[in-house]
Amino acid sequence: MKPTDEQLADLAKLLGDTADCEIDCAELLDHVAAYLEAVKDRRGLEPRLQQVAQHFKICPECREEFEALIRAEGLDPQKLLGD
Ligand SMILES: [Zn+2]
Repeated sequence: MKPTDEQLADLAKLLGDTADCEIDCAELLDHVAAYLEAVKDRRGLEPRLQQVAQHFKICPECREEFEALIRAEGLDPQKLLGD
């Protein structure tokens, strides 16, 4: 049986609480565009995008680059990313 998106989200949340990070800096690049779209639209984050959010918490370098990307779009990183 295929797990539902909700189950996957719960699982990702569980993993996020226990694991440091599921993706590395190189993998992050594959998801940055999708993550940016999601935060711009204020959509709920699907599991792989939650991993992106998690990565920004532990990797200041990627977060900095992402914030630069947000600014390049004329947006405010603080408002989009919170904390
Ligand atoms: Zn990184």
